[in-house]
Amino acid sequence: MDGVDMESAGDRFNSSMEEKYRALVYDTALSTLLAVLVYVVVKVSLDGIRQWRARVSVLIVGSGPVGLTAALVAVRSGKVLKLTVLDERYRTALLCRPQQIALDPRSVNFLLGLGVDFDNMEGCWHNDHFFTKIGVFQEYLLSILEQKKQKIDIKVQLGTKFTEDYLRRIPGAEWPRIIVVADGSCGESCSVLGISSDYIVESCNAYGANATIERLDQRQCILFQMPIQKHNKLAFVTPSTACSKVPTPEIKAHSLYFDLSAYGMDATREPRNSVVKPGFHLKIYGTFRNRYMALACPASDSKMVRFLRHTANSAIMKNIFHQSFNAYKTDIEPRMNDLTLHHMQCSRRLFEVMLSHRRVNAAYIEGDNVAVTIEGEAARVLNFDTGCGVNLGLRGLESLGTFIYKTATALDQNDVFEALSAKIQHSKQVAETFRQTGLASTMFE
Ligand SMILES: Cc1cc2nc3c(=O)[nH]c(=O)nc-3n(C[C@H](O)[C@H](O)[C@H](O)COP(=O)(O)OP(=O)(O)OC[C@H]3O[C@@H](n4cnc5c(N)ncnc54)[C@H](O)[C@@H]3O)c2cc1C
Repeated sequence: MDGVDMESAGDRFNSSMEEKYRALVYDTALSTLLAVLVYVVVKVSLDGIRQWRARVSVLIVGSGPVGLTAALVAVRSGKVLKLTVLDERYRTALLCRPQQIALDPRSVNFLLGLGVDFDNMEGCWHNDHFFTKIGVFQEYLLSILEQKKQKIDIKVQLGTKFTEDYLRRIPGAEWPRIIVVADGSCGESCSVLGISSDYIVESCNAYGANATIERLDQRQCILFQMPIQKHNKLAFVTPSTACSKVPTPEIKAHSLYFDLSAYGMDATREPRNSVVKPGFHLKIYGTFRNRYMALACPASDSKMVRFLRHTANSAIMKNIFHQSFNAYKTDIEPRMNDLTLHHMQCSRRLFEVMLSHRRVNAAYIEGDNVAVTIEGEAARVLNFDTGCGVNLGLRGLESLGTFIYKTATALDQNDVFEALSAKIQHSKQVAETFRQTGLASTMFE
């Protein structure tokens, strides 16, 4: 072999080695890619199956409107193995509460998404709001839960108080992974769970006063022609036939001024440099038997506001509510006279409207591996009744479904903490949004 032949043989050898090497690289890359792909597909499928199968036990304390709506959210999340709902009140006491609830359009949409059928609930519509009584609403939600029992293990324990003893009696293996505390503004369940009851109290930049009147001579009736919806039928009820548990739509009046000259207060003599703010806003709501009134104005330093905030004469406020009621009540409703006035209870003076919200509104109980969230009036409450309080509670529940989903599918504690942190953020946001715009939408518009 001469030198040229040897060179070309060497080249051929080199290029075949190179080809072999390239093929090896391709093969290795391909098999690595395939292995990674298989790993990803298997992992995603296993995760998917795990997430799909993940189910947790949920305990809801309190069967008020918020607790029962929370129960529906839990059912809807599809992640509940066992749901227990309790209330210290027995069924009759729970369902005969006289207050009305006014569900605003956002709450109506939220409830529609949970499968609430307003056509099958006693109540009435006015300005896209749905008005019903708390008891009627709770009874309806309880009936939906009853239907869901076929698919999920649901236990409704009425007449059962949540106490340390109750907790102790839950067998270890049956401990819930999630507890939703919705025990209202007077509930003490948080302290049973060792959760701080510190509140942050913040001004809503408004002043207000409330009045209630119970007129025992009035039945819980609708006394004027108004459309009601019952079992899918729109009907008009008249004074003679109507006797329903349903409340009347609310009445609103704006820019009110009061003549308080009889009490030595002349509002026309405001100091020159004072900016005279718009007047008061009035709302009348409830049934004819249980009438509620709310009077509010944006915070200002006007002479009338100062006078009403500091007066020691409680008759002034009573007189304002008396005159306002008679001026704005429905035509067919009896006027408030000296006799009925006697049954009216009202704030002695104008007070600053404050929102109290819990410093700790979600928590993790380490040893027991339980995530707790606090909802409704147990989480945030106003010192002023606007007639729309329940909507604030329902806003908080808008993040409950995601919270349940994330907690149920959590791989470890960190995932649970992430779910809790998102819940805490949302709860804070709900309070802040209400403080900024809540009174404007419920009272001032
Ligand atoms: C006079 C009045 C008029 C109102 N008018 C209106 C209105 O017109 N419109 C409106 O939207 N809202 C109105 N509200 C507000 C409305 O009632 C509340 O917003 C709503 O009830 C709050 O719901 P919740 O589920 O958070 O609490 P709640 O309704 O208070 O329910 C809490 C439940 O928890 C139970 N509970 C407490 N402790 C325990 C325990 N340890 N174990 C087991 N169960 C327990 C209680 O028995 C109760 O049933 C009014 C309120 C009042 C007082």
